[in-house]
Parts: sequence; C-alpha cells; structure tokens
Amino acid sequence: MTHEGSRRLYDRALSVMPGGVNSAVRAAIEPYPFFVRKGEGGHVIDADGNRYIDWVMGLGPLLLGHDLPEQVRAAIQRTASEGPMYGTPTPVEVDLAEFVVRHVPSVEKIRFVNSGTEATVSAVRLARGYTGRNKIVVMQGGYHGAQESTLVEGDAENPRPSSAGIPQSFADHTIPVPFNDEDAIRDAFEKHGDDIAAVLTEPILGNYGIVYPEEGYHEFLREITAEHDSLLIFDEVITGFRVGGLGCAQSEFGVTPDLTTFGKIVGGGFPVGAIGGRAEIVEHFAPSGDVFQAGTFSGHPVTMAAGLETLQFAAENDVYDHVNGLGDRLRNGLTEIVADQAPSYTVTGTDSMFKVIFTREGPSGVHSTPNTESGDNSEQGPDSLEEQCEAGCRQEPTCPRYDYCPKNAADVKNAETERWRRIFWGQMKEQEVFLSQNQFECQFVSYGHTEEDVERTLEAYKEAL
Ligand SMILES: *Cc1c(COP(=O)(O)O)cnc(C)c1O
Repeated sequence: MTHEGSRRLYDRALSVMPGGVNSAVRAAIEPYPFFVRKGEGGHVIDADGNRYIDWVMGLGPLLLGHDLPEQVRAAIQRTASEGPMYGTPTPVEVDLAEFVVRHVPSVEKIRFVNSGTEATVSAVRLARGYTGRNKIVVMQGGYHGAQESTLVEGDAENPRPSSAGIPQSFADHTIPVPFNDEDAIRDAFEKHGDDIAAVLTEPILGNYGIVYPEEGYHEFLREITAEHDSLLIFDEVITGFRVGGLGCAQSEFGVTPDLTTFGKIVGGGFPVGAIGGRAEIVEHFAPSGDVFQAGTFSGHPVTMAAGLETLQFAAENDVYDHVNGLGDRLRNGLTEIVADQAPSYTVTGTDSMFKVIFTREGPSGVHSTPNTESGDNSEQGPDSLEEQCEAGCRQEPTCPRYDYCPKNAADVKNAETERWRRIFWGQMKEQEVFLSQNQFECQFVSYGHTEEDVERTLEAYKEAL
C-alpha cells in the first residue's frame, strides 16, 4: 500500500493550511491522513488508488453511502444547475421543514442554519433569550461543535475554556457534569437553579466513545428541567435521523425535549444545521421574536434538496432496516471476537453507530472498580458473560460487564486511547478498513455497505485485536 500521492498533497497542504487540514480531527492520523479521491457505495478510494471499507462516512452525514440513489442525485443536480441560492425563500425549505415537523414529535417549528455548530450556538442563545437566564449545563465529553459556551472543561465548581481564545467569562456560565450522574445535576440545580437556562446533552454521547444513557436518565433530565423552568435541549446532530429512524433518538427514548439541534444527515451530505422545538419557544427567533439569528446561506436550496430527498428515500425504502441490521451484525460479531478478552474491550453503539472501546484494565469512574471478596478483579473481568449486552453496551445493571463499561467521559478517557490511535488504527488501515481517526469519534453504517463489508471488517478486527 503506497501513500506517495497523499504524502505530496499533505506536503502542499501544510504550506497553506494550518496543520494541513480544514478541521482539527482530520490531522489525528499519523504521520498524515490519506486524501480521498472519491467514494463508491460503502468504500472510499484515496489519491494513490487504495480502496478502503469506509466506516467514517463523513463523520456522520452520509446515511445513504457515497453513491446517492438516482432520485437524490437528480434533485441535487437540478437544484444546483438552476442557480445556487437567492437570498429569498425557496419552496424546498418549506418541504424539508414540513417533513421534519411531521416526523419528529417535539418539533413544531424549525430554523435551518449551516452547521451543527451554528445550530448549538443559536439554540443556546435562544434558551438564554427565552428564559432570561445565563447558565447552561453540559455533559463532560459531550460535543456541541466549536462554540464558546460549550468548549468548556473541568467540573461544576471549576469550569474553564478547553481552547485558547475563549474568555473565562464564557466558561463561568457553563456547568459541566458527568453523563449518567443524576446527583451532579441535582447539585447544579440546587446551587444555580434559578439561573440555569438549559441542560444541553447528546441523547447518546457520540463524540466520546459511544456512551449509552442509563435507564431513566433522560426522564430524570426531563423532570428536573421542567421543575426548574429550564429547557431540555437534545443535541441530535449525530443521532438525528440515525438512531430511532425518522423519529430520531428522542422517539427511541420516549422523551420530549423542548429544543433539538440537528445537523449532519438532515443536509444529505451538504453543510447544514437546524434548531427545532416547541413553537412558542422557537418563535423567539427574529423576526418573530427578539433573539437575533440570521445567515446568508441558511436554508440553502441545494442542501435542502439533498436533505429532503435523502429523508424521503429513507422513508420509502428499507434504509433503516438495512443499516441497523448490519449494525447489529457488526456489534454482535465484535462482541464475540472480544469475548475471551473481557474486560479489555467494550463494544458500544446502537442502530447504525458502533465502536470498540479499549477499556483494558477497566475504567476508574464512580461505578468502575468492582469490589469482590478476592479484591480488585478489574484485570481479570467477569467470570461469565452470560446475559451480557449483546449488540452494544446498553448499561444494563444485569450485564456481567456492567462494572467495566464506560458510563461517562472520564471512563472513556481512561481507556487506551493512544494504543487505539497509534497502533490499532494503522493495523485496520493496512487491511483496507477505514475507521474514525481516534478512540472518541463514532463509526457509522450506511445504506451503501454490504454484508461482505461487515464480514471483511470483522476479520480485520480479529486480526488486529
Ligand atoms: C458534529 C456535531 C456537532 C457540530 O456540527 P458541525 O456541523 O461539525 O459544526 C455538534 N453536535 C454534535 C452532537 C455533533 O456530533
């Protein structure tokens, strides 16, 4: 496998772009990323002609894979050829808005923007404007794009910016808490209840391993926010139209957030974001309300056409059966492969999301160090794997791996992230399997993937683990 073409491109890129890339995570691959020439179904082909099974899928947006169905492609090309955009409304944005409102029960009104980041920026501003409050509760390890209010680390007592260039005063209004930790949320509301505008969370942590919520966690968030007149915002930029099908993750969990942010799939592979929710709240956006929000490219006709045709195609075909079925096959197969290495690995994910987390010696969070009579058995793991979560970790207390599986970001961070990135990723690439750039980013099944892709990928994992 040669990478001469990619090396030369990276050499040029380093001279004109910071770190040689346009988005930080792309440079995580060492010594340099491969440059993609084109996609084909569930595969990508790089600048040197190497072909890989692609489980990155644009980091989430490509539900249908790289070859778009004819009707989707035709709509995109027709819309683009009629003129890129106009600065005045077009019919297709109404069609897509109606589609989302029809399928996602919590969404009565929606505004389209151009990225997931823009969606969460606007949702946070809307929540603050609507409630007249300042503070936002976020989950440690949650990702809401590159925005000032959520690029915050530390804990509730000690929030600080996680990037240079962000004033501490932004972090002062953000309260980071561990995912799956009800007490931490109760504490936050006890101390700051009357100044908390919203709790903002991904329904499933999708940018930090994949961490599933414990039973009842989202219901708890729903109740405590309502009690304090705060908003519950689900960031469904990854999970929207991927988990729970067209109803999104909120329908899977049966929880109704006040606001939802979308991105990725809803633009069918083009730049997109959206903020949807209760009409009475969303109406606070200008011009109907006083929360300013605007964008030259918002509701871009090509993006709207791509999103609409993608979702309509999914509604009329076996897209979710296909991707979720292959997702189950992958997670089941991976669970079998790592069975004799418990607790070294945890297979995570649901629907068409999957990941293997290198938990190794067992995480060291609140739940994690199992106490047995023989002392700390975290290295040897459970005696039996009977009744374990089969197609991805569901945080079932009855699962024998429960004490070892990651419950929050700290647990994932304690996993062997360097081994994953520096050794394992390359071993998979050598076997022509393209996984996401590090231990934290999610991997995705698309409609373009086949059973053969799954079998070959499982063989590669067997070889590499
Ligand atoms: C990708 C992502 C974002 C940011 O979206 P961009 O389009 O990259 O700005 C926000 N929230 C979540 C949950 C994401 O996965």
